[in-house]
Order: sequence, then structure tokens, then C-alpha cells
Amino acid sequence: MNRTRPILKNFMMQDPIGPVTRLEGIGPVRAQRLARLGVACIRDLLFLLPRRLREWAEPVSVAEASDRVGSTVTVRVRVRGVRLTRFGGRRSLVRVKVADESGEIDALFFNQPWMREHVRVGDDVELHGRVVDAKGAALASPKLGTSAKPLPSPGTVVPEYPLTDGVSQDFLAALCRSAVARYGDGVVELLPHDILTRLGLPPLPEAVASAHAPANAAEFDAARRRLAFESLLGVQARLQLARTGRSGRATAARIADARHAALLDRYPFALTVAQRRIAGELRSDLARTSPMRRLVQGDVGSGKTAVALYAAMVVAESGGQSAFMAPTELLAEQHFFGLRPLLERAGLACDLLTGSLARRDRRQVLERLEHGGLHVLFGTHALFSADVRYKRLDLAIIDEQHRFGVGQRAALADKGDDVHTLLMTATPIPRTLALSLYGDLDVSLLDEMPPGRGEVTTRWVRGAERRRVPALVRERLAAGEQAYWVCPRIGAEEDAEEESLARIAGAEQRFARIQESEVFAQLGVELVHGRLPAEERARRLDRFRRGEAKLLVATTVIEVGVDVPAATVMVIENAERLGLAQLHQLRGRIGRGPAPSQCLILGDAVAEHRFRLLEECRDGFLLAEEDLRQRGMGDLAGVRQSGDNLEGLDDPERDLDLLIAARDLARERPDVCALYGAGERATP
Ligand code: ADP
Ligand code: MG
Repeated sequence: MNRTRPILKNFMMQDPIGPVTRLEGIGPVRAQRLARLGVACIRDLLFLLPRRLREWAEPVSVAEASDRVGSTVTVRVRVRGVRLTRFGGRRSLVRVKVADESGEIDALFFNQPWMREHVRVGDDVELHGRVVDAKGAALASPKLGTSAKPLPSPGTVVPEYPLTDGVSQDFLAALCRSAVARYGDGVVELLPHDILTRLGLPPLPEAVASAHAPANAAEFDAARRRLAFESLLGVQARLQLARTGRSGRATAARIADARHAALLDRYPFALTVAQRRIAGELRSDLARTSPMRRLVQGDVGSGKTAVALYAAMVVAESGGQSAFMAPTELLAEQHFFGLRPLLERAGLACDLLTGSLARRDRRQVLERLEHGGLHVLFGTHALFSADVRYKRLDLAIIDEQHRFGVGQRAALADKGDDVHTLLMTATPIPRTLALSLYGDLDVSLLDEMPPGRGEVTTRWVRGAERRRVPALVRERLAAGEQAYWVCPRIGAEEDAEEESLARIAGAEQRFARIQESEVFAQLGVELVHGRLPAEERARRLDRFRRGEAKLLVATTVIEVGVDVPAATVMVIENAERLGLAQLHQLRGRIGRGPAPSQCLILGDAVAEHRFRLLEECRDGFLLAEEDLRQRGMGDLAGVRQSGDNLEGLDDPERDLDLLIAARDLARERPDVCALYGAGERATP
């Protein structure tokens, strides 16, 4: 994650103590450069947290330094020769030849002609700098230590700041230190002493001082944690205030025990123990007037939809409406067609709102919705567009929530802070992220698979064996089973600029090739991808669902939702183009019936690591976490934009305790919460 470190806000310092130009040596030009680091006022400087700590290492011998091109070293040497070369203009080079008993090395000083006078042959000096290869090893523009002014001794720690063009490490360090010296007194601690003691954190003024001039690594770390806590608490306090503002505003939907049991009996299957447990949690969430914020995490196929349906039924019983939002039209349709029979049998009305609806039909749906003629509305994020008005929206169900961006979630929030919200995902959000994004999100784990699922084996098929794949698929189809053939791209021409393209099969090409084979053509083959009109796509999918087509060639549009229990084979081409979590989602389409299934992965060895993991691991949570590790937290959908909630935390897992402590404090201490939750008031 390559994000400039945000400045930690100090929520307490009322007075920003003025712009940086008030400091000696800072004119408009430098002020502008500092602004690129987010530093505008002196307070920003005080709270500019160094990225890390660097420790001055023991000196090495010249021989060793020569062997370490690329690294930064210190040597203790005697000066053997000094030579100045001028290149015209202001460009010059001073080449200082130095040596110890192990050998000789040159130190190069660019455009610092005064260096020729500064060092003399016979002097004993220390040099600290990067070893470069300039026709032999040399030290490039090293720092110079003399007996009068030695370098910091080994073991000394110095903070390293985030930098920008024209702002050097030394300059910024000196600037911060002088800001602390002159203005550090302005920093006040507002956290009660007992809280600091409990958390083992130093007081804020002390933390600010030691962040810029720490005595050792432990002191720096304590300072870093104290500053991080400052901004975490600000975020959590704001979330908490928003939450308090919401409480009491949601409609409570209460049902009696007998009703609860009756609802659970409506399903065509017996709910798993985990599903029942979560239904119970939803029941008590919905019975409150503070809006529910619950995330249900469950692996692909664990039956999250059934759980969501329960919540919608409870809300409908009390006269409220539910919006059931899916990330794709395909999935929204699937939910609608899958759940409608059940809802109708229960006497509840539902409909589907998609972008492809004719205008008249759309108007009809909207009218029914506004007049309370609908209990559940299925759809994509269009469910929350401005012209969609609910009579009484009590519950928002968001399926595959990780696929929605921040903007879409905001649109939902606009429809009402007071709406109960149920989020569902097969991609686990690490606890730290959930906490920092939502503050008070409750999480339920659907950790049990419905019974009667066949085993899915996954295999990476390579080399000559690839040629046997069509025959293998044919065999299964002939036995009455069905198969998916997935290609990441729709057409091969799509990104013609890419070199490797010739080898990337598009779904269209694959479909054409497969149809050439008479056997396949007789068994029935369909093609679906995202560019088909929704109706046409639904028609083709239906043919596959009913078994009229045995083979479905598809792009990753089928990644979520498609549910055909007779499908037992999945072939994935160019699998190297897909991430771990995505591949796992895809293979979740098979193994939905009792028969054993197989997933055949065709892909380049660059992704071998991923393929091996898939072969060995069936746990979607483990895979998602591994995926996260590989791609970095910032890639998780929607997280980058909200990354500022994690400010101060390079490694959120390490500071999880702080995050939790900040949340608890915001919850338990209204006084502290009010102080910090006002947040931005300290901004100049
Ligand atoms: P996901 O958690 O991936 O969204 P779904 O809700 O789509 O999973 O459920 C996958 C399949 O399992 C569906 O066909 C659904 O009808 C079925 N299912 C859900 N719960 C049960 C259960 N308790 N017993 C049997 N089948 C179930
Ligand atoms: Mg689902």
C-alpha cells in the first residue's frame, strides 16, 4: 500500500500556532513543499509522525563496504587524497580517497567544492553513506564526521520522515525538532490519567517530543502508539456519535416465539444449526430501535440467502419493507426468482428492479413500492437511486457487500441512517478493517455447510494433459451432469494491445470452437457474458438451469449467485488472470449437489502458488486472507477510499488492541467521546 502517511490530527490543540512560515528559514517556496506532505501549520509539524526509526549501525571495514553496493554503511578511515574537478557552471566533483587497513575506497561529493578545503590528507574521519558502483565501489555524497563534530554513535536512533521533492530528511528532522522546542508546550493531554495508565501510553506532550527525538526504539514505539491512538479515538468517537444520533430511530420488528419457529419452518429444507443461530441474532437485532448493523460472513454455498430471507420476513410481519441489493443484475434476478415462491407462499409481495426494466414496468414497480404494495424489492444499487421511494424501508440487505464501493454504501446511508442493515459476504473482512470502517459492526459467522454436498476436487491441469480436458468434460456430460467453462475475457480481440493476447481465449471464441464439435453441440451449449442484454442472458441461463443446455461457457459473470446443483465440472481457462478469492468463488458454483465435482484449472505457471493453494485448501476464509496478504490490504474493495480511518496504523493487526481500546473508550465514556468526536474543530 503506497499511500502518503497522513498527518495525525491532534484533536485537542485548539490553537494551530500559526502557519509554518512563522518558523525560521521557511519561506513561501518551502511552505509549498511542506504542504505536499500535508503540513500547513506548526501543529501539523508537531504531529508529523516519522515513518520509522533508523538506528546508526557499527562501522564496517572498507573491504566490507566495497562488497555492499546498494547499502548504506559507516566507515572509519584516514584521508589519502583530495581532488576537485570542475565541470563548468556550478557542477563539480570532489573525490576523496580514504583508506583503512583493509583497503581503499573513494568518497564522492557532488557540487560541494568547499569539501576540498574541509578535509585534509592525514585526517581521521567517519563517513556514512550509500555504496555505489562508480567504476569500482564508492561512497556517494556521504555524511562526514570529524573529531570536532563526530557522527552519532552506533546505536543512536533517528526518526525517518516521509519526504517529498526538495525536502530532505535532515532538513525535516531539524525543523520538527525546532518546532517541538519552541511550541511543544502547546500540546495538551486531555485523556484522563487512568486511561493512559491502563493502556500503557505516555502523555501526549511527551509522546510528541519523543516521536521526533526518541532515546530508543521502545520510546519511539510508545510515542507512535500514543499518536495513533489520538487519531483512532477521533475516528471512533465520530462513529459513536453518529451511532448515538441514530439510536432509537429504527423501527423495531418484534415477533413472538411461536412466529419465529413458524418462519423457520417455511423453508423447503431444514436450516443448519448455524443458520438458526444467526436467525436468532437477527431476531433480537431487529427487535431494537437502534439500527442493526450486522455482517454475516459465510463461505460460498453456506446458505446466506436463507438467513437474509428470514430477516426480510420478520420485517414484513411488522409492516416494514426490505430492499435486497446484489452487486450484479444476474445475481439480483437469481435471488428474486429463487425467493419469490417462498415469499408468495407466505403471503408477501416482492418484485425486481433492474436497469433493463421498461419504463412503464419500472413506474409500476415504484408505485407499488411507494404505496406499500411490496414487502421486498430485489435489485442492484439502483434500489437506492433518488427516484426510488419506499413507503417504509426498514431493512437493507446487501449481498456480497465487499463488491460495493464506498459511494454505493453512501447512497444507501442517504436513504436513511435509521434503516436496519444486514451485510453479507463470502470474503471475510479482517476484524481490524471491520472495526475501523464501521466501528460498531456486529459480525456473525455462518460456519457450517448445508448437508448433502458432494466433494469438490481441484486440479491444476498442465502440459499434454490439457488436451484431455474436453474429453473429460464430454464424459461427465454424457453421464447426465453439467459443466461450466469459464474464460476471463469475452472476446479475444478485447485488449489487442497486450502482447500475450494471442493465447488468451475469449469466451466467444471458446464457445465457437466447442460448438464445432458435434458431440457438444448435441448436448447443448450456451454462452453468457456481461455484454448480453439481461433478458437474453437470463433466457440462456434458464436453459442451462433446466438442463436443456449441458455446458455453459461463461465469463466471470457467473462468479456469484448461479446455483445449478447438477453442475459438477468447472473448467477455468487463463486462471492466472484471476485472484485467489475470485477463483474460490467461481468454484463455489460446483459441488452444490450430492455428486462429487471437479474443478480443472488451466493457467500459466506464474500463478502456480495460487493454484497449489486452491488444490489444497477449501476454506474460503483462509484463501481470502492469503489473497489479502498477497495483494495488500489497500486492494480490498472499498478500503482504499476509507483508508484514512486507519491513519497512523501501518500494520493494523499489530495495533489491534489500540483500535479496540479506542472503540470501547468512545462507547463507555461519553465525556471523552464528545471531546474527540467534535473532530475537525481544531483545524485552522
Ligand atoms: P451463499 O452463502 O453462497 O449465498 P446460498 O444462500 O446461495 O449460499 O445457498 C446455496 C445453496 O444451498 C442454495 O441452493 C440454497 O437453497 C441451499 N441451502 C441453503 N441452506 C440450506 C440448508 N440448510 N439445507 C440445504 N440446502 C440449503
Ligand atoms: Mg450468496
